[in-house]
Amino acid sequence: MPDYRSSSPPNADRSTAQEFAQLISGVQQYLMQEQDLFGNIIYPPSEHGAGKKETTDTVKSTYPSEPWAAAGSLTELNAAICECQKCSLGATRIKFVFGVGNPHAEVVLIGEAPGADEDAQGEPFVGRAGQLLNKILEAIQFKREEVYICNILKCRPPNNRDPLPAEVEQCEPYLWKQLDIIKPKIILCLGRISAQVLLKTTESLTKLREGVHDYRGIPLMVTYHPAALLRNPNWKRPAWEDVQKLRKMYDEMKKVKSEK
Ligand code: URA
Repeated sequence: MPDYRSSSPPNADRSTAQEFAQLISGVQQYLMQEQDLFGNIIYPPSEHGAGKKETTDTVKSTYPSEPWAAAGSLTELNAAICECQKCSLGATRIKFVFGVGNPHAEVVLIGEAPGADEDAQGEPFVGRAGQLLNKILEAIQFKREEVYICNILKCRPPNNRDPLPAEVEQCEPYLWKQLDIIKPKIILCLGRISAQVLLKTTESLTKLREGVHDYRGIPLMVTYHPAALLRNPNWKRPAWEDVQKLRKMYDEMKKVKSEK
C-alpha cells in the first residue's frame, strides 16, 4: 500500500506526474501557437462583438481635436502625449514607449505593446524579442536606426496581456499621427494583433501574411511577432521569406524612383 503521507511519490506515480506535466505543457504550447495565428480560439470574438470586421469607411481615422494633433514633428508629438492618462495603463506604466528610429524612415515596423523591458527602458523591442528583431533586420540589410519601430499601445498592459479594445481606441490615433509625420513607404506589422488592429479585421495571421494590404494608402505587410518566433523556431523560415518579400518590394520601389 503506498504511503500517501510521504512527500516523495513512488516511482510509478512520479513518472505519471511527469507525463502529465509534459502533456499539459504540450497543450499550453499548442494553444499559444494557435493564439499567435488565430487569436483567442477558446472564446473567439462574436460576429456582432468587438472583433467584428469593419469596412474601410467605418475605420475611424479622424484625430480627436486635441493639441497634440497639431504636432509638426515626432519630438513635438512625443512631448505632447508622453504624460497620457487616457486609459488605466497610464497609471501602471514605468515609461511611455513612444517609438524609436529614423523620423524619415521608409519602413515602419509596428508591434503590439511594450513588455517589461520596454516599459523599464522606454524603448520598443529591447528585450529578447527585440534582439531577434534586430537580427531579422540585419538579415535584410536594414539597420535598426534606419527604420522606425513602434507599437499600437504606448504603455505596457499588465502581465503582457492583449491590448483591450478601449486601450486601442485611445492609443491608435497617436500611431496615425506618427505615421502621418513619418510618411513611410512600407509598413510591416509584427504579429496578428498589430495587423488586426490596423486593418480592422479578425482574419488569422496565416491569411494576413498572404498578401500586401493597403493601409490608408501605404502598402502593409504582415509577419510573425518575434516573440512568437522565440516560442516556435519552426516559424523562422516563413518569417524569413516574409521579410525577403518586404526587402524585394522596397528595392523595387527604390529602383522605380531612381528611374524617374
Ligand atoms: N512586443 C511588442 O509587441 N512590442 C515591444 O516593444 C516589445 C515586445
